[in-house]
Amino acid sequence: MEATRYRDTRGLDTTRPSFTDAVVKGIANGGGLYVPETLPSLALDDILSLSDLSYPERATRVFGWCSVDVAPERTLELMNAAYGSQWDDSRIAPVEEVVPGLHVLELWHGPTSAFKDMALQCMPLFFSEAIAVQQAAGTLADDYLVLVATSGDTGKAALEGFADRDHTRIVVFYPADGVSDIQRKQMVTQRGDNVGVFGVRGNFDDCQNAVKAAFSDEAFNNELHETHSLKLSSANSINWGRLLPQITYYVSAYADMVASGGVVAGEPIDVCVPTGNFGNILGAYYAKMMGVPLGKLLCASNENNVLADFIATGTYDISGRRFVTTPSPSMDILISSNLERLLFELADADRVREWMASLASEGRFQVDRATFGLMREHFIGDWVSNDESLGVISRVFDETGYLMDPHTAVAWEVAERLRDANPVLVVSTAHWAKFGADVYKALTGLMYGDPLPSDAADLSGVDLLAKVQELAENARVPLALAGLDAATERFSSVVSAGRDGVEDAVRSWLT
Ligand SMILES: *Cc1c(COP(=O)(O)O)cnc(C)c1O
Repeated sequence: MEATRYRDTRGLDTTRPSFTDAVVKGIANGGGLYVPETLPSLALDDILSLSDLSYPERATRVFGWCSVDVAPERTLELMNAAYGSQWDDSRIAPVEEVVPGLHVLELWHGPTSAFKDMALQCMPLFFSEAIAVQQAAGTLADDYLVLVATSGDTGKAALEGFADRDHTRIVVFYPADGVSDIQRKQMVTQRGDNVGVFGVRGNFDDCQNAVKAAFSDEAFNNELHETHSLKLSSANSINWGRLLPQITYYVSAYADMVASGGVVAGEPIDVCVPTGNFGNILGAYYAKMMGVPLGKLLCASNENNVLADFIATGTYDISGRRFVTTPSPSMDILISSNLERLLFELADADRVREWMASLASEGRFQVDRATFGLMREHFIGDWVSNDESLGVISRVFDETGYLMDPHTAVAWEVAERLRDANPVLVVSTAHWAKFGADVYKALTGLMYGDPLPSDAADLSGVDLLAKVQELAENARVPLALAGLDAATERFSSVVSAGRDGVEDAVRSWLT
């Protein structure tokens, strides 16, 4: 079968890359995003057949259906490596029915305890595969330097995914005062000879802007090429290599729910996703387009509710909108970059170019009635306040004994508000222990803005987890998190925000 080719959401890139080429390139020429030219159309039997397979086999099937340019036998080897013993549950993405009709899809059993592992344990292997092919063909000119700006979860998952990969190095920038104690320790204790980690004096936006500026600095790119034989690349969620693995778990979850009796084969389920960059929920949209019986896609936001407003009104407006701090920091976002892919699928490249230009110049765009109507056929949105989300954690724990993290809590609340007769798949994106301080506040009845009580205020992030376990006896802490206080901190540099800060950090790290 011919490998799927990719096209560009802005219609400016006519190179039609294959899957692995799109992974290595990351973003299309002209700033658009790659999307597949064609999608497979799955029969119900194909979907249900996954329930008898291991997760690596399920992923191999889905990648095969999507016609990636890697042979199935080789894909299976890569998937066995991606979804192997570094996961603490061999089902990888298990579904648990917590109350009748509400099923939780747990995406945090990987090495960094957040859903980013679903894609970032997988995508770097395809990256290496593409490099190996280039090398065999004698066309590998430079090694790759992956630069990542992170608000906390992506950085660690990318470090873990790229550590000690041949011909690849990775440097991560995080806001020095913007990540939790656990998130910082996860990053600065990272193993691997090809990794670097820097704090930035500034917030996540400052990190992201500085990294973007370094990417588009021609002199810096030339210097890396000439002095170090390196080429810049990105592991952010605009990379299609992060999207495809996120389609797999929706197909997998539907098969599991039919097998467990949670839904009758062929009947629809609704899906509720805690959303930031719109990558996770977009995986559900593509799974639906491929034929998985998904009904409504419920887009759950926190107090940074630009997406909920967009889905309600058809106007995306960040002019005059302030960035709010929340207990679900991985959803704190103003520009939700993967939305561009949905807009392309619902409209066309000409309109996407127009809307993105308007967003850049005026901070807003409004979609036409037809596009808005199409969007409303699939999506509903709602948002949850900081204090409500902590309230959900304690209420659901009291009622069911199930302990969830603040991101999952946002989705749970929206699912409860918007559900109708369909069973709902609530997507759980982080282990509670990754956000232990806010879970502790939730279980002790505190509000988000309240300080921790004096007996907890000076504890490390890891020690706080033990306090949570005093309140929630059966709550388990992943081993990798429990060992963080004892691990050696390898990286301590904090650099100034801005392009020069990032570029100087990379230079010093390389020498
Ligand atoms: C990244 C992340 C999200 C948001 O996912 P998007 O794909 O950006 O919408 C939600 N929860 C957690 C815990 C995350 O790490």
